[in-house]
Amino acid sequence: MIEAALAGPLPAYVYDLDVVRGRIRALRDVLPAGTLVAYAMKANGHPDVLRAAAAAADAVEVASAGELDAAAGLGVPLILSGPAKPDALLRRAVDAGAVINVESLHELRRIPGRARICLRVNRTHPALPGTHRMSGTATQFGLAEDDIPAALELGRRHDVQGVHLHAVSNNLDAAAHAAFLRDCLAWAAGRGIGPVVNAGGGFGVDVTGRETFDLDRLRDVDLPAGLTLVVEPGRFVAAPAGWYAAEVIDLKSSHGTWFAVVKGGTHHFRLPASWGYSHPFTILPVEAWPYPWPRPEVRDTRVTVAGEQCNPRDVLARDEPVPRLRAGDVLLFARTGAYGWEVAHHDFLRLDPPRFTTLDGQRPDGQPPAGGTRP
Ligand SMILES: *Cc1c(COP(=O)(O)O)cnc(C)c1O
Repeated sequence: MIEAALAGPLPAYVYDLDVVRGRIRALRDVLPAGTLVAYAMKANGHPDVLRAAAAAADAVEVASAGELDAAAGLGVPLILSGPAKPDALLRRAVDAGAVINVESLHELRRIPGRARICLRVNRTHPALPGTHRMSGTATQFGLAEDDIPAALELGRRHDVQGVHLHAVSNNLDAAAHAAFLRDCLAWAAGRGIGPVVNAGGGFGVDVTGRETFDLDRLRDVDLPAGLTLVVEPGRFVAAPAGWYAAEVIDLKSSHGTWFAVVKGGTHHFRLPASWGYSHPFTILPVEAWPYPWPRPEVRDTRVTVAGEQCNPRDVLARDEPVPRLRAGDVLLFARTGAYGWEVAHHDFLRLDPPRFTTLDGQRPDGQPPAGGTRP
């Protein structure tokens, strides 16, 4: 199936919209009945992915004017976050009927007219370990707990729906995440702010495929009466729905290390460079070889996969074992659907963008593409 989607110019991103929909469904299935799932589109804003996610979710979470514009026509409720919202963006969000997650008292004063708002709070006590911590520590996000009374007072001219407590990204510890959700609900119930308790995203995906977020652990979150839980997954929905494919242009040994050099690289898929890890891949053998000379080939060795940038940091994978690899073969990187293309420096060196394509959901064998995951 994925081979068919790859029949065309490479590099390419292939997205499986069934995975997008399935991940949202899987999250909904384990969370308390009535939980609202908002797709955080910054993880992947490709129009097809966004459309599929918006149709499966209850809302889309946006964090810029560009995202607001992209999501506005989809007919789903919008949630606006972000610590630096210009006046014009606040105006457009009010006009679009978005719920605005208010990040400061000054921002609250700047919201025109009457808006639906949630107070984004940076809580005093850390509730969750993990990377990219945004709560319980000094960050640019949210209001201090001490500012809540003033915010409620200023918010009287608005429709205050509750609190927003997004705190972390890529947490792989599902038991800790369940505890975090329970803690958010108990904290909000204790303060009488509600009914909405938006606990944000942060449901993790191990991009190397070794660990999985154990969704079942979320089943033991109980919803206190009168509260509505909202979650905003981005990575969890999009990461396993994407594959990045690149052709090996050259294969050579340098100072004792084998390099597979691909057309493509970290200007398309940025995570390995920014997080400093090696992204595993599978090899799609390509039999065609257009040249009259012997094909560069390695067997049972380790290769480092470098991209086409003139830059030694343009590396997608390091010292990965390969049974056999030849120039002209295609490398397929699974779990590249979130924060890959979105955060890459696309225009560096004026290199070509990848092609984008989707599987159509009509897979005859019902199997995921190579290296994929399915809930
Ligand atoms: C980025 C972000 C999310 C999504 O985070 P993931 O780690 O991708 O789930 C959700 N809510 C807010 C406010 C965000 O900034």
